[in-house]
Amino acid sequence: MATDFISREAAIDMCDDDGDIIRIRNIPAADVRPVVRGKWKHKPGHDGEWLCGVCNHDLEFIDGRTMGMPNFCPNCGADMREKAE
Ligand SMILES: [Zn+2]
Repeated sequence: MATDFISREAAIDMCDDDGDIIRIRNIPAADVRPVVRGKWKHKPGHDGEWLCGVCNHDLEFIDGRTMGMPNFCPNCGADMREKAE
């Protein structure tokens, strides 16, 4: 079963019962972090080399080649699953 993470404040905004609001406020917070989305961008002056658009981390090369464009930045974890510019 998939787990959904919702906004505590959005849930409280939908409640009109003080008891429900207190119970929602007492639910422990989940250990999640917001998704950061980014795009690979060309490294200036180095055609064919790529940087993370969020943290500017160089995509690592092995023997002068990348191992494909990863879906996530190996440095900051940004989600790169959208097309690069
Ligand atoms: Zn990054």
